Amino acid sequence: MTNKYDIIIVGAGHNGLVTAAYLAKSGFRVLVLERREVIGGCCVTEEVWPGYRVSTAAYVNSLLRPEIIKDLELKKHGFEMLPRSPSSFSPFPDGRYLMMGPDKAMTHREVSKFSTKDADALPKYEAMLERVASFVEPMLDQLPPDPMSNRPGDLWTLLKQGLNFRKMGAGAQEAVEILTGAATPILDRWFESDQLKTTLATDAVIGVQASPSMPGTAYVLFHHVMGECDGARGVWGYVRGGMGSISNAIAASAKQFGAEIRTNADVARIVVKDGRVTGVVLKDGTEFDAPRVASNADCNVTFRKLIDPKDLPEEFNRSIAAIDYSSATLKINVCLDQLPSFTALPGTEPGPQHRGTVHIYPDMEYLERAYDDAKYGRPSGSPILECTMASAVDNTLTPPGKHLMSMFIQYAPYKLKEANWDDIKEAFADRCFDIMNDYAPNFKNAVIDRQIISPLDLERTYSLTGGNIFQGAMTLDRMLFMRPTMGYSRYKTPIAGLYLCGAASHPGGGVMGSCGRNAAQVIVADRVR
Ligand SMILES: Cc1cc2nc3c(=O)[nH]c(=O)nc-3n(C[C@H](O)[C@H](O)[C@H](O)COP(=O)(O)OP(=O)(O)OC[C@H]3O[C@@H](n4cnc5c(N)ncnc54)[C@H](O)[C@@H]3O)c2cc1C
Repeated sequence: MTNKYDIIIVGAGHNGLVTAAYLAKSGFRVLVLERREVIGGCCVTEEVWPGYRVSTAAYVNSLLRPEIIKDLELKKHGFEMLPRSPSSFSPFPDGRYLMMGPDKAMTHREVSKFSTKDADALPKYEAMLERVASFVEPMLDQLPPDPMSNRPGDLWTLLKQGLNFRKMGAGAQEAVEILTGAATPILDRWFESDQLKTTLATDAVIGVQASPSMPGTAYVLFHHVMGECDGARGVWGYVRGGMGSISNAIAASAKQFGAEIRTNADVARIVVKDGRVTGVVLKDGTEFDAPRVASNADCNVTFRKLIDPKDLPEEFNRSIAAIDYSSATLKINVCLDQLPSFTALPGTEPGPQHRGTVHIYPDMEYLERAYDDAKYGRPSGSPILECTMASAVDNTLTPPGKHLMSMFIQYAPYKLKEANWDDIKEAFADRCFDIMNDYAPNFKNAVIDRQIISPLDLERTYSLTGGNIFQGAMTLDRMLFMRPTMGYSRYKTPIAGLYLCGAASHPGGGVMGSCGRNAAQVIVADRVR
């Protein structure tokens, strides 16, 4: 009896935990199995050095759905957002800097330093994104309707979405460009100042192997402006105690509803008999039985490693094999004796320049050129550095007086033409540190230690195929009813009782919880049926 459950969740990423919590709340006997020694997947806090609590992968939150915070009582379980003001700081080599958001008057003053025309245009640009968000956001919490189906539910949802699309009027065309186009032409049309465009453009390339002039990047930019922080729209914040506090709060909620969570439990195989799942087997041979399994792992892991492809239709296998996992992200977590003192705004005491995201790259051309190397399988000679120092806002992360810096770096292509990441990651990190030192000359002397997470490490440690931070590309051909593949966007798979519940499914990557929540709804409905 003890190894028998109503459902087994493979992976304790935040989405798997959300599914577990909702199902336990609905009365399922739930077991979550996580291969790592910690829960949270990419939404995790780890004590990398004694006394330093590091958000080793994801580092800021905005996307986590408010309904989940409420339904699972996450605040009661320790979840607390720490808003950031300002939200970004871009120092430039000429000694000037641009600070932005969420204070609108401050942002207007700051952008005016570079262009008063842009300062006036920015609120209109944000309103345009808001209009597109009002069309897209409701879809995050919905099961994607299948346009190929004649089911009344699908047709009804499609009709409602069509009417919402119509409500955008002339803005509909802009919405289509946002969903399919490139970020640079949009930014070029709206703004004249290179400094503002450069600051806005990073969101377009986060986690993707593409430059901002390439189609698909406008959606990535847009994906990063959805969400909220304590009710403030489009605002990103830190989470007290690091991103792992989100996963820990969800896990605490799941446990309160009766879910069991085991770590160091590496699932080797999802067992399938006569076309339906019957349980899982761990690498150490332990077996668990359940008539349902939900996988929080990506499709490559789920369908090509944990399941015998013989148990799946040929056409499905072909489509899964074609998912794009290319990526070019490397992360360096740094512990510091002192905060960086930027030439553009000196000071080592926590100040506005340390609170938000710090953009270390001078202009749009630099962003484009940084990608050129990656195109040919080389790490950028002059990479893009997107840095955050949560310890400037949250004093629970480090020993007194010490600090942490998260450096999210692009482009570091997973597939290198000539080298191996294990051999070159130290030299690449040295290059990133040199660049940071050019902007903040005390930086290198302040470094106590660093943790370099290469794309290969993202794959090995976090089970992200190809190091892709979203569990697969977020391009339109793999979104909505096509994520992960046509006909299987509703969390079900060709195997009866097997579901997906992670970022591989609609609506994709980011610490949103929507995938997990939507999957739980489907699983509950299937039980009732
Ligand atoms: C470096 C980096 C930075 C990011 N920054 C941000 C950010 O700042 N904000 C944001 O919103 N998003 C960010 N993201 C994206 C976001 O973190 C992810 O999209 C999201 O956390 C995915 O959650 P998930 O639960 O779907 O999957 P995951 O977090 O990938 O969890 C999957 C879990 O399954 C486990 N697993 C896999 N295979 C097995 C197996 N065989 N047996 C048992 N367990 C298994 C894994 O160990 C993992 O714990 C970032 C991602 C990365 C990698």
